[in-house]
Amino acid sequence: MDATQVEDDLVEVLFTEKQIQDRLDELAQQIAADYEGKDLLIVGILRGAAMVMVDLARALPRHLEMDWMAISSYGSGTKSSGVVRILKDLDTDITGRHVLIVDEIIETGLTQSWVTSNLASRHPASVEICTLLRKPEAVQMPLDVKYVGWDIPNDFVVGYGLDYRQKYRNLRDIGTLAPHVYS
Ligand code: 5GP
Ligand code: MG
Repeated sequence: MDATQVEDDLVEVLFTEKQIQDRLDELAQQIAADYEGKDLLIVGILRGAAMVMVDLARALPRHLEMDWMAISSYGSGTKSSGVVRILKDLDTDITGRHVLIVDEIIETGLTQSWVTSNLASRHPASVEICTLLRKPEAVQMPLDVKYVGWDIPNDFVVGYGLDYRQKYRNLRDIGTLAPHVYS
């Protein structure tokens, strides 16, 4: 669905489907240049990164491998605690591999810093992070993120994989959720 179908639930549309695809194309060009001559394994973090992962993969003008991890953050409600549990691990042995983690949004950075150090301990050739969105004002953990689609304000956003209570993931655009939806 697109933003017109959930108009009343959104304060504003931050990024349209077209803007997202254009930005992913730019990131894909950059990634392709940086990884030229190297094998590449991209790792999507379920469920939120599903849309970014499949669109970024198809925008990349080269061969690559795709794998997935599912994790759950312990902690109450909407706040990340940084204590993470693996629900589904990689199927791939990443020893000696160039790994690019693909995520949809980094808020505190606690989840991603845990994932990155977990993967780094498996002796890959390299581990880098690509995220579509980042909230610089919320970052609690200094994190070296190599590819960022956009930095955004510290508001709750939905769409393009990002959910509120498992809904809105299939929204094509990304928008700021109206407070009346969650209050
Ligand atoms: P953190 O970086 O704080 O450890 O956690 C990032 C995770 O929090 C994301 O993977 C996502 O699940 C959730 N998250 C953070 N900000 C938002 C947001 O604005 N909207 C949605 N739907 N999820 C968010
Ligand atoms: Mg995520």
